[in-house]
Amino acid sequence: MTDLCRCREPPGRPRKRNEPTVTYGVSVEPARSPRLAPWQRTAEGAGLLAADGTVAATVFAEMSALAVSTGAINLGQGFPDEDGPREVLEAAREAIANGVNQYPPGPGMPVLREAIAGHQRRWYGLSVDPMREVLVTAGATEALAATLLAFVDDGDEVLTLEPSYDAYGALIARAGGIHRTVPLRFPDWRPDHDELRAAVTDRTRVILVNSPHNPTGAVLDRATLELVVELAHRHDALIVTDEVYEHLVFDGDHLPVATLPGGWERTLSISSGGKTFNTTGWKIGWVTGPAALVTAVLAVKQYLTFVNGAPFQPAIAAGLDLPGRFFTEASASLAAKRDLLVAGLDAAGFATSIPSSGYFVVADAAALGEPDAPAFCRDLPHRAGVVGVPVTAFVHPDRRDSVRSLVRFAFCKRREVLEDASARLAALSPREEAPAAR
Ligand code: PMP
Ligand code: GLN
Repeated sequence: MTDLCRCREPPGRPRKRNEPTVTYGVSVEPARSPRLAPWQRTAEGAGLLAADGTVAATVFAEMSALAVSTGAINLGQGFPDEDGPREVLEAAREAIANGVNQYPPGPGMPVLREAIAGHQRRWYGLSVDPMREVLVTAGATEALAATLLAFVDDGDEVLTLEPSYDAYGALIARAGGIHRTVPLRFPDWRPDHDELRAAVTDRTRVILVNSPHNPTGAVLDRATLELVVELAHRHDALIVTDEVYEHLVFDGDHLPVATLPGGWERTLSISSGGKTFNTTGWKIGWVTGPAALVTAVLAVKQYLTFVNGAPFQPAIAAGLDLPGRFFTEASASLAAKRDLLVAGLDAAGFATSIPSSGYFVVADAAALGEPDAPAFCRDLPHRAGVVGVPVTAFVHPDRRDSVRSLVRFAFCKRREVLEDASARLAALSPREEAPAAR
């Protein structure tokens, strides 16, 4: 194994840091522009910086606010509308009552680190040292932030799939990196292996793999993940995985990159309890990987939040220890909700892609004569009383044409809510000025 914690610029691997580079025919200037303050660069990385220098709210915040102000059903931001397992909630109450209310240890409470290590062994056969190879974070978001800030230097390239979760672009830009992408295309969302090969070079510092994937619900197959490992070795890149939907795979099993031959030694695996236990507001996440890599992440993490969520840590530990039945039932129940909403969207006239995991389904509004998803999503609460999120929010502004008419809807809601939303969408009448369906 090469030393992934090394200082940058090893001999024989020169980087041309200040040259504009090209990805998929789009010219990309180095992320650090003299014009932009670091906070503006962060917003720009997520496509939220307006031409006049003002910063917009995230699409999730904007759409949730629109749902509240219009009283529409919120199928925008991905959060469940039901509580998770009783045992988990009870464990948090008990921890508060028993005085678990002060700073926990920096790397996380031992009970949770042990539960995370136990979870990796039980589900994936991975042997992880709870004291050296596990770090508890403030959600997967802080894990991603600390990891990218720990490893990405000015001009380093970070590769993600696209569409991609909005935090990636923001964090890569804040770290001074250059965001490269490999496109996933509606409706199958399978990355092209030649495009993946072409996108990873010696300039690639991190390959950030989100599987199961938000917003598409795609699950990367073994061959793709093996190619990621092969390319990371060939180009001496670090692999960072975002596996927050690991227990919400509907068809088949979740496959962590760290379990593949050659995977563990250069992978930091990130997950969190929010999706698995319906506790998105608790923000308990974690990173696992080789001790030297985890230590590097801790060096940054301890000056972001230092620690968080003391009473929630033993509660998530209790969740991770729940019997297998809980996990299979949770994913089966969500799969049934997927089927319900997909049927509703189909009946309303959308073209849908069937997600094999996660919280979301992507639907094409062009089939309804709506070519412009951002405009459609702004109107939809008023026209139909439903909120969705345009997929353009997950794509770099220069490349949005390919997803222009796509809308992401969340199905992590109660069945009656999904039935109501489906009925409302079915009653959607075309806009007067709507162009003919393609
Ligand atoms: N990664 C992905 C792909 C997500 O969808 C989300 C949203 N919850 C996160 C990370 C953030 O996770 P957390 O709430 O644990 O910070
Ligand atoms: N992960 C959630 C989603 O994709 C939202 C998280 C957020 O609001 N930042 O909808």
